[in-house]
Amino acid sequence: MNCDLCRREELLIKGEYPYLLHEFNHSWWLLGEHQYYRGYSVLLIKGHYRELTDLPAATATAVFSELLAAHQSAQDFWHPHKMNLCSLGNVVDHLHWHLFPRYQDDPKLKNPPWLQMQEFDTKKISPNEAEKIILEWKKTFAFKG
Ligand SMILES: [Zn+2]
Repeated sequence: MNCDLCRREELLIKGEYPYLLHEFNHSWWLLGEHQYYRGYSVLLIKGHYRELTDLPAATATAVFSELLAAHQSAQDFWHPHKMNLCSLGNVVDHLHWHLFPRYQDDPKLKNPPWLQMQEFDTKKISPNEAEKIILEWKKTFAFKG
């Protein structure tokens, strides 16, 4: 298998990926391995689909609800000024969204988050740090069902 995100899914299925915030029916919501933007997360679609239009219609609708739920929860938990959602897939063509909370004290708030991507790895978090954030999130915002 030649897809990084399919390999990540295999780890998630085995319970061996420590950045899981929540498993939805059609997607996994993951805390970002870096926190350059506090609260950065990724919604990863289950199964290797390249385009939104490749999803069965009912799945696409369900995925949109899951994206909205993750978006709302990120907003409620991290209180950003604005959420930036991106789905590009030019590097890994397995459908996923990046959810970047953006804050008012960011001097580059008006720029797309990708302009800072060279610095993302300077804010990597360990699985232990991720676990603390995820536990904090679960106390208040864990989804039901
Ligand atoms: Zn894949």
